[in-house]
Amino acid sequence: MESMPAEPAFVPADYHMHLFLDNEPWRNEELAERLRVLGRMARERAVGEIGISEHIYRFRQFREVMRDLYEGEGTHPYIRDWLSNDFRADLDLYVETILSARLDVPLRLGLEVDYLPGRMELIRQILSPYPWDYLLGSVHFLGRWGFDIAPEIGWPDDPELIDEGWLQYWQTWRQAAECGLFSSMAHPDLFKKFGHRPSPAAAPQVAEAARTALVAAARAGVAIEINSAGLRKPVGEIYPSLSLLQEARAVHLPITLGSDAHRAEDVGRGLAEAIAFARRAGYAEMLLFCRQRREAIALP
Ligand SMILES: [Zn+2]
Ligand SMILES: [Zn+2]
Repeated sequence: MESMPAEPAFVPADYHMHLFLDNEPWRNEELAERLRVLGRMARERAVGEIGISEHIYRFRQFREVMRDLYEGEGTHPYIRDWLSNDFRADLDLYVETILSARLDVPLRLGLEVDYLPGRMELIRQILSPYPWDYLLGSVHFLGRWGFDIAPEIGWPDDPELIDEGWLQYWQTWRQAAECGLFSSMAHPDLFKKFGHRPSPAAAPQVAEAARTALVAAARAGVAIEINSAGLRKPVGEIYPSLSLLQEARAVHLPITLGSDAHRAEDVGRGLAEAIAFARRAGYAEMLLFCRQRREAIALP
């Protein structure tokens, strides 16, 4: 007997996805069609609702506030070429297109916002006119180092420097969680992306820094994201790790779910695993957002 293809497991929401491939030119006139493609894919994958969370560096409105990341002495050539060619889309159009779209699934208006120390007030001002359903907070940069771009970019060989990087990462993450702008913190332990781990000697200190950051996040009232993209990356793990998620559960940090799809095929991907992972850590609920008001619903 032929086996029937399994029905996809229901996923209440995927709140982390992008409209365009990283190396693809942004075409404003294609936004509505791209949204329809994402909506169809969500429907096929039994995703209950989706939220679009494009990177802020796609939009011309953020060119100035991020300029020091791609200009000046010592800028990595890759980052310079990449970012000086981005910031081409228009935030007004992005928001209008999402607000006016009618898809097969409910659609939420989000954005993936880099945490940039010293510039969050400017970023807050740029974001303030728009009716966001939620904002994802991301740490992709430590200073001017975009640590999640590639293992060849900026990663030291010296294990002590990697230990220092981990500590700096959690301090920065903590500040981001406390800055008050974000609904949920995206991919909480992204620094592991390429498999760089703290040395055994530094591991307890790094774990303590992570715990401190999670406690601060809980106090600040922000959620954390369970992000399945790590399953598709060299580290081969969900962000955050199970032990961090258990810590998060212990301090009552609520969760959101995100595939971090940069292409339509990845919408909802890995989120059934993310839900099972959440359950293993003791979670029974996740959050939905509408106009920055959160609602807890039961995990399937
Ligand atoms: Zn990200
Ligand atoms: Zn993302």
